[in-house]
Amino acid sequence: MAKRAVFMDRDGVINLNRPDYVKSWDEFIFYPFAKLALSHLTKSDFLIIIVSNQSSIGRGIVKKETVDEINQKMKEEIEKEGGRIDAIYYCPHKPDEGCPCRKPNPGLLLKASEEWDIDLRKSYMIGDALSDIEAGKRAGCFSILVLTGRGKEQLHLFLNSPYQYDKLALDLLDAVDWILKHKKVIHPK
Ligand SMILES: [Zn+2]
Repeated sequence: MAKRAVFMDRDGVINLNRPDYVKSWDEFIFYPFAKLALSHLTKSDFLIIIVSNQSSIGRGIVKKETVDEINQKMKEEIEKEGGRIDAIYYCPHKPDEGCPCRKPNPGLLLKASEEWDIDLRKSYMIGDALSDIEAGKRAGCFSILVLTGRGKEQLHLFLNSPYQYDKLALDLLDAVDWILKHKKVIHPK
């Protein structure tokens, strides 16, 4: 049977967003609630998958190896507090490269669903930007906007978007606890 996943963006959801990109582990600052949220989610049967745009690689600002190293350290820190990340997918391309994986395109979610046998229509996407919500909706996921990161400043963009969040949450902990409480609810169209 196909599995269910909770997909989530990284910067602005798990850790503080930086306009000039997270370029080193020193610049990776967990939100205070993030590891607790992931430990709650780890007790469920959802796969936990990060889908993240990392155009800093394509722009030559950060090396791919550095991004991988930051992600590895993040995973270890999450595991120390009882959490788990099953997979991390990221797009290294620049916006003008026209790749299918950069959000708002749903490529990362589609790739993950093939590799992990995920039923996207029974899965969730959590993000702090319209591009996350658009990617989630285009992939068929129930999509939750959090108000951390760019969330608040992006709210007005939804006024003119065909892609709407299905649920608004304060932060990752709020979103995860809501999912765990409502996961048996039939998925909306
Ligand atoms: Zn890409």
